[in-house]
Amino acid sequence: MCFRPPSAGKKVICEACGTPNPEIVKNCIKCKAELKKDTNPPKEEPPK
Ligand SMILES: [Zn+2]
Repeated sequence: MCFRPPSAGKKVICEACGTPNPEIVKNCIKCKAELKKDTNPPKEEPPK
């Protein structure tokens, strides 16, 4: 039984510089660029 914080291990990749940031930060720890939230963009179904 390991206690695990719910946000542990989740990383947000900065689109500007590619640096993996912890999900809790709002801006990139390296270049201060705004990080995108964990949103679920609706996937467009490719036409068959
Ligand atoms: Zn960055």
